[in-house]
Amino acid sequence: MSLMSTKNFIDSQTQRIDLHSHTKCSDGGLTPQELIERALNFQIDVLAITDHDTVAGLSIARSYILEKNLPITLIDGIEISTSWRGFEIHIVGLNIDKHHPQLVQLIEQQQQARELRASTMGEKLEKIGFTDVYQQAKALAEQGSITRAHFAKVLYQQGKVANLQAAFDKYIGKGKRAFVKPQWCSVEQAVEVIHQAGGSAVMAHPVRYDMTTKWLRRLIVDFKTTGGDGLEAVLPQMNNAQRQLMLSFCLEYDLLASMGSDFHYPSKWSDLGRNLLMPDTVTPIWQQWH
Ligand code: AMP
Ligand code: MN
Ligand code: MN
Ligand code: MN
Repeated sequence: MSLMSTKNFIDSQTQRIDLHSHTKCSDGGLTPQELIERALNFQIDVLAITDHDTVAGLSIARSYILEKNLPITLIDGIEISTSWRGFEIHIVGLNIDKHHPQLVQLIEQQQQARELRASTMGEKLEKIGFTDVYQQAKALAEQGSITRAHFAKVLYQQGKVANLQAAFDKYIGKGKRAFVKPQWCSVEQAVEVIHQAGGSAVMAHPVRYDMTTKWLRRLIVDFKTTGGDGLEAVLPQMNNAQRQLMLSFCLEYDLLASMGSDFHYPSKWSDLGRNLLMPDTVTPIWQQWH
C-alpha cells in the first residue's frame, strides 16, 4: 500500500480536529505513540503532528496507527521556524509529502541552524557561569530537534531558574543575555517548500508574536503575497477580541482558517483538542484537502 500523499476527507460537523501538536521528536513530552494514544483518549478524529523542523515522528506515529488499526486520521505536518524582519515566525505545513527532496533539504538546513544556535547558546551560558547546559540539552533532545525548550528545562533542573518561563525571561528569550540570533529560512522559502511538498502553508499562532496589530497586518500581507494558504485563527488560549481579529483577518486577506492546540505535554491549561471550534464564518483549511 502506498502511504499517503492521500488527501483526507474531513467533516468538522462530526469530527474532532487538532492540527498542531508536538512529540519528543522536538520539544514535546510524549513519544509519537503516546501522543496518538492520548489523542484517542481525547476522542480526536484528526490529528496533525507538527514538530519543530522535523518530520521524524510522522512515520513512527503512522506505523503505530496501522499496526494497531486505530481509528484516527494522521495529518503529516511540520512547524518550520522562519525569520521575518527580526521576528521568529512559525509556519506550519499540513498534508506534506515528508519525503519530498526540497523539504528534506530545508529540514537539513534548519537542523544545522538549530545545532549552531544551540552550541553558541551553550557557550554564552558558560560565560555567564552555567556549566554543561549544552551537553545536557543535547542529551535531553536525544536524536530530535534541539530547541530552547530543552535549554529551559536544563536550566530549571540545574536550579538556575524557578520555572521554564523564567529561563526565557532571564537568559534565552529574545534580547536576553544568552540569546543567539537564529539563522532560520525566510517565510517565503518555508511557504515555497511546503507547496513543493504538496502541503498547505499555515501561519502558526499569529496572536503570539508580540507585535502590534499594524506589524501583524504587514506580516500577514507578506505571507499572503508569498502564497500562504491559512492562518491558525482558532487556538485554545485566546480572548474574544483576539479571536474576532484573527477571523476577520481570514476574511479580509482571503486566507483559510486552521485550528490547533499546539500541544506539548499534558498540563492544567491546555490539552489536545480542547477549546477548539471552527466557526462557520470562515473557510477551514481542510477544504483544500477535499
Ligand atoms: P525554539 O524553536 O528552539 O526557539 O524553541 C522555542 C520553543 O520553546 C517554543 O516552541 C515553545 O514550545 C517553547 N517556549 C516556551 N516558552 C517560551 C517563550 N517564552 N518564548 C519562546 N518559546 C517558548
Ligand atoms: Mn515548541
Ligand atoms: Mn510555534
Ligand atoms: Mn508548535
